[in-house]
Amino acid sequence: MFIDTHAHIFMTVTERDISLEDIISELHENQVDTVVDICGSEHELEYHKSVEETFLKNNINFYAAAGIHPQESSNFIDSDISWIAKNKENIIAVGEVGLDFFYDFSPKEIQLKMLRKMIEQTIELQKPILIHGRCGEALIFDMLNEYGFDDKKVLFHCYTGDLETAEKILKKGWNVSFSGILTFKKSADVLEIFNHTSINNMFFETDSPFLAPVPFRGKPNTPGKVRYVYDFAANLLNMKQADLAKQVRENFNKFFNLNI
Ligand SMILES: [Zn+2]
Repeated sequence: MFIDTHAHIFMTVTERDISLEDIISELHENQVDTVVDICGSEHELEYHKSVEETFLKNNINFYAAAGIHPQESSNFIDSDISWIAKNKENIIAVGEVGLDFFYDFSPKEIQLKMLRKMIEQTIELQKPILIHGRCGEALIFDMLNEYGFDDKKVLFHCYTGDLETAEKILKKGWNVSFSGILTFKKSADVLEIFNHTSINNMFFETDSPFLAPVPFRGKPNTPGKVRYVYDFAANLLNMKQADLAKQVRENFNKFFNLNI
């Protein structure tokens, strides 16, 4: 019933030591049947392909997206990224890509250069783009406009920017996705953005292994826990979880051009 639009399976398994078995049983327990696995390197994408069958065998739709994370821009700026295009058939989107000026892992100029490369890659592959914007949302918005993204599929994952930029994003018909942050006590800003977002343009995600929702805060996150974000959102909207899940599924199919 539920979809996790953004998780990092390689990191969840290898860095947090959570087994695939546990991830899958938790997905079943929480009625989560679809996961988008965000791969930030060829190695992560190869890992995705190696575990794909395990998910499919367990009736989980398991999709990959691939792109260079802004924090990794310095590490990848001079390396061969042709593996993304080579895997055109294996990915449903380019992402996560964007700008992150909250952390200081890559200089601004390098991040901007990498984002251009990723936007051009998105246009070439004709895929949706999944955006990571931290303290750089307005610049990303401007760059997408510069490239003429009006009729393209854009999803800002785990949006934590300002309301003004969010309104501009939504006005374009682009989308935002909400993570466990929505359930945190001190999330007034994200809550305000949620209240401004039409249910036709919203998605939910875990960003596993990060940002575990209440009541799991501080623990490693897993895709099954996306249900807690849906629960929280359905309450805010005064909707049944199943109705919200159905709407998000429609959004998902439309956005990724799928039929699940
Ligand atoms: Zn992520």
